[in-house]
Amino acid sequence: MEEDGFAATKLFNRGYSYTYDDVIFLPDYIDFSTDDVSLSTRLTRRVPLLSPVLSSPMDTVTEGAMAAAMASLGGLGIVHSNLSAVDQVSVVRSVKSRRVPILSAPTFRAPSDRIHSLDDFDSCPYVLVTQSGSASSQLLGYVSRSNWLQLDDHKKDAPIDGFMNGSNDLVVPWDSSLTQMDSYFQEKKESDLAVLVKEEEAVDVVTREDVERVKACPRLGAGTVGSDGAWKVGAAMGTRESDKERLQHLVKAGVDVVVLDSSQGNSIYQIEMIKYIKKLYPDLDVVGGNVVTVSQAQNLIQAGVDGLRVGMGSGSICTTQEVCAVGRGQATAVYKVATIASQNDVPVIADGGISNSGHIVKALVLGASTVMMGGFLAGSTEAPGAYEYQNGRRVKKYRGMGSLEAMTKGSDARYLGDTAKLKIAQGVVGAVSDKGSVLKFVPYTLQAVKQGFQDLGASSMQTAHDLLRQGVLRLEVRTGAAQIEGSVHGLVSYEKKPF
Ligand code: NAD
Ligand code: IMP
Repeated sequence: MEEDGFAATKLFNRGYSYTYDDVIFLPDYIDFSTDDVSLSTRLTRRVPLLSPVLSSPMDTVTEGAMAAAMASLGGLGIVHSNLSAVDQVSVVRSVKSRRVPILSAPTFRAPSDRIHSLDDFDSCPYVLVTQSGSASSQLLGYVSRSNWLQLDDHKKDAPIDGFMNGSNDLVVPWDSSLTQMDSYFQEKKESDLAVLVKEEEAVDVVTREDVERVKACPRLGAGTVGSDGAWKVGAAMGTRESDKERLQHLVKAGVDVVVLDSSQGNSIYQIEMIKYIKKLYPDLDVVGGNVVTVSQAQNLIQAGVDGLRVGMGSGSICTTQEVCAVGRGQATAVYKVATIASQNDVPVIADGGISNSGHIVKALVLGASTVMMGGFLAGSTEAPGAYEYQNGRRVKKYRGMGSLEAMTKGSDARYLGDTAKLKIAQGVVGAVSDKGSVLKFVPYTLQAVKQGFQDLGASSMQTAHDLLRQGVLRLEVRTGAAQIEGSVHGLVSYEKKPF
């Protein structure tokens, strides 16, 4: 009898390292609509999510705005650790201090402080003045960028209380909904700013422009919220002694999950750190990784991880396979690790190599519970950094955390501890195109993922995983010509509009 394709177990045990583009699923049978497909999932043993999407802990991908946006979409952001523990904690706190995915991350100052440069207005056009000079302290006033620029030079450098504006009537509760914020700006026609206040303390600001931006995006659902009503957020950390102190602060700030951030997670350092965390903070879920093999995964599972991050050498900015000759094709890695992890009830994150919705379908159906993305999100409004122009194209910087530039900024600490001081880059610095807001393009991407699930006859993540393991879902390897045929070809020109 003619057989259609291969079961995954046969395909992935032939000695080849397959990437997502190498393989293709054969369609199955449809008896439900795309609206019936549920992509709800788990990030770790105890962190459920409505959407299987995560932003990577990279300093050009996940800070406050991205983490808030990902949570509002039902996914989660992992705040990078290429910054001091104090700054990482304040990002975690800022994510938890709003209910609408606004972009602002204002600088806070005390009344006696000075504003030395425009840098204070980089992330938000307002500086908030509070009693202590930091967030979660009594609000005293604010300074707008435009007001400060209009001051005489000698006044610009004077203590802030000499020229700040009072802000008594510019406040809204921190947990205001988008509709409530919108009503506020409808009523206060003369003001473009509101300060978010929690128990009389300033936690953030929201601007009229930002409310208009969020209103123009597809309607948001409940998002990823904890029992306290605040958004959930994760944080990356390392395996050095100093990371124990970082962890203590993160836990105090209410972080919901920590990710041990390494290219090769199967190390004595990581195993000891997992055991340390599980002993000291048994209620905190820990993601270990990265891993790509069954034996790496088994070691971390045995140490007690609650989730596994899979991917070595698959990232779009990555040179690891070239430099170190280690890694694995991402389709093979996800399938292999997810197979062993599912037997231990440990969810898997497919990390890196996602550049379209088809890659997400492949990652999820091959056994991952979530996908983690860097390059796919880095050109968005919510990613850190400003847009620039390159050859007339609007772009944002995107860099590997193992690039020389990123190492010099901070992840350096990892390497300076080593006796060998020669730095070897495993990543590059580059740029990605402006993609607009994740609040717009991620919902469209997820709708495309649902269509893929429908074609495969899988109405949920669990069904997809079951059908794959039962051998009902069939795959084949695509030849080079099949890959060319599988994308747009033979046209003189075309425009690709994803939605
Ligand atoms: P890392 O912190 O795991 O390792 C850096 C070096 O420090 C390694 O030599 C490691 O063995 C050593 N080290 C770690 N903990 C130690 C301890 N307690 N004592 C002594 N030595 C210790 O980081 P990395 O693997 O270099 O990754 C850096 C960044 O780059 C991360 O953000 C990572 O995600 C990213 N990266 C990812 C990939 C990938 O393929 N997924 C590849 C390269 C880099
Ligand atoms: P992308 O989504 O394909 O862009 O890949 C993002 C992933 O690449 C991250 O989540 C990390 O696992 C990995 N990564 C981050 N920085 C580096 C690096 O410098 N070298 C190699 N891999 C990296």
